[in-house]
Amino acid sequence: MDKLNFINEELSKLKETGLLINIRTIESPQGSWIIVNEKKVLNLCSNNYLGFANDPKLKSASQKAIENYGVGPAAVRTIAGTTTLHKELERKLALFKGVESTLSFQSGFCANLAVIPVIVGEGDVVYSDEFNHASIIDGCRLSKAKVVRYAHCNMEDLQAKISAEKDVRHRLIITDGVFSMEGDIAPLPEIVNIAEKYDAIIMVDDAHGEGVLGRGGRGIVDHFNLHGKVEIEVGTMSKAFGVVGGYIAGSKRLTEYLEQKGRPFLFSSAVTSADVSACIASVETLTASDILVKKLWENTALFQDKMRQIGFNLGKTKTPITPVMIGDAKIAKDFSQKLFEAGIFAQAIGYPTVPMGKARIRVMISATHSNEDLTFAIENFEKIGRTLELL
Ligand SMILES: *Cc1c(COP(=O)(O)O)cnc(C)c1O
Repeated sequence: MDKLNFINEELSKLKETGLLINIRTIESPQGSWIIVNEKKVLNLCSNNYLGFANDPKLKSASQKAIENYGVGPAAVRTIAGTTTLHKELERKLALFKGVESTLSFQSGFCANLAVIPVIVGEGDVVYSDEFNHASIIDGCRLSKAKVVRYAHCNMEDLQAKISAEKDVRHRLIITDGVFSMEGDIAPLPEIVNIAEKYDAIIMVDDAHGEGVLGRGGRGIVDHFNLHGKVEIEVGTMSKAFGVVGGYIAGSKRLTEYLEQKGRPFLFSSAVTSADVSACIASVETLTASDILVKKLWENTALFQDKMRQIGFNLGKTKTPITPVMIGDAKIAKDFSQKLFEAGIFAQAIGYPTVPMGKARIRVMISATHSNEDLTFAIENFEKIGRTLELL
């Protein structure tokens, strides 16, 4: 008997419903144009908001680090894997974010898995936005705390749910800063108000906010000028920072405690010297100038204004994340395929990443896009939108 036969059935089901993910292979560096299946296409999929993923400064920082430190960390950070580079990154990142301290992790996903179970456990309650990232959901599961989901960005619902819960030891409110599938921004000032009333700890995952929101891309806390009001910030080095890795930002005692208790920190090796050096170079570049962040927002306004004029529904986005709402997952797939044939790489996103019936093409704007790139994209969106009778 074939014990894994059920996998075939599950995969067929995904295919039939248009939910099978088609993973494309990139054959070039990341940039506004990339090579996919030997075809040069305009890249509207990446989180490379500022173009750092193929930046010459970052690349040469990595090359130097390999010469000086080699390629592998050779141990988890608590045993022998912390280098002066890791400490330098953490110091520079803390200055950039305007916090006392940061601690770096292998990824944003790992940072969430590390911090949530350290802060809450049995007898505690987490209030989690229903659209929070999968890594937050998994971090909550690992924690054994009770998880109460509140309606997306709905502060009445958060207030109602938090006041309904009595005799709680620790309360923790967790939200994405910028929601990756919608592009909207968490109402952090209201969350701070509610948290103060109930002594709740606040944790914000700023993965899509850093490099994008706030002064020179300093993130959502800076955007709302809430420095000192948010106890825990989570970040990633894989999006606007263009490399790989994650971090927790907050107080010194928080990061010291995480060094003792955060399981991905204790039991999994850190990112390599090449990665860390590139991260340092990207934090330095962003600290020195806001020119790329400004360009990102100019590109966003150009693209979104024109797409709305044409008649596309872009949902509630307030950021460079641009969901072009389609509805049916199969039509969204078809749209994405037609875009690809026209030379544009923009993925369709369906269930379970977004709710059933809310399929969309998610366009990610980058500072590296030229006006001609964006016009080319808009013209093709319009043409295909008409072919598929969506306009
Ligand atoms: C992308 C993302 C992550 C994961 O970051 P990685 O560094 O890629 O693991 C975590 N949280 C949110 C909100 C994200 O958007």
